[in-house]
Amino acid sequence: MNENSKITIAIDGFSSCGKSTMAKDLARQIGYIYIDSGAMYRAVTLYCLEHNLISGDIVDTETLRSLMNDIHISFRLNSQTGKADTYLNGKNVEDEIRSMKVSSKVSPVSAIPFVRTAMVKLQQEMGKSKGIVMDGRDIGTTVFPDAELKIFVTASAETRAQRRVDELKAKGIPVAYDEVLDNIKSRDHIDQNRAESPLRKADDALLLDNSDITIEQQNKWLLERYTEAIQKIKT
Ligand code: C5P
Repeated sequence: MNENSKITIAIDGFSSCGKSTMAKDLARQIGYIYIDSGAMYRAVTLYCLEHNLISGDIVDTETLRSLMNDIHISFRLNSQTGKADTYLNGKNVEDEIRSMKVSSKVSPVSAIPFVRTAMVKLQQEMGKSKGIVMDGRDIGTTVFPDAELKIFVTASAETRAQRRVDELKAKGIPVAYDEVLDNIKSRDHIDQNRAESPLRKADDALLLDNSDITIEQQNKWLLERYTEAIQKIKT
């Protein structure tokens, strides 16, 4: 039995399918740390944009490689929102990393092997003591292959695009549905077909298609799976 009865929870899936909402809600309910691994790849992408390392879809990998040690990513609790904000080299970049500018370049940046190696190492350090819920693309397959609970979330591209448009609208960022849908489809394609840690369901992950369920139903389902996983390590 695990000493402190805390487990590792890996939530993977396609872009904008509500992974972070469910991961965050679960972490809050059970008192675990929540880490948004996509925010880390987004922060590296923002760094590349700020340093003019991306032209079209081509990343200047050699310069980026030489600058990797200058990229420091961390999360700090925002006392106003009660959520963790992403920091890049000491600057709060939580809003900037969600922009379409970053979204449109993040998949090529996160396909670079040395970027993945650096982020995976950081993520594994964050999860050393268990008691963590991490969401992303390769958490159950590469980052925490021994996670006690693995979920793979999916929903139709159209449902996901509408959710992302609503989310950005609520933040006062107007975006065109078609642009968001194209971005989601292209990220799905790159994420599934890259050589390094492509997006795929781990064999032992539980599949959740949340196209037609509410956030409440989804949270209830996830809490039940967590309870089952905890029971399992106690027996
Ligand atoms: O989760 P989110 O959509 O914010 O992630 C942004 C991008 O970061 C994804 O489209 C994917 O290319 C990349 N990513 C990744 N591996 C992760 C998390 C995100 O490659 N573990």
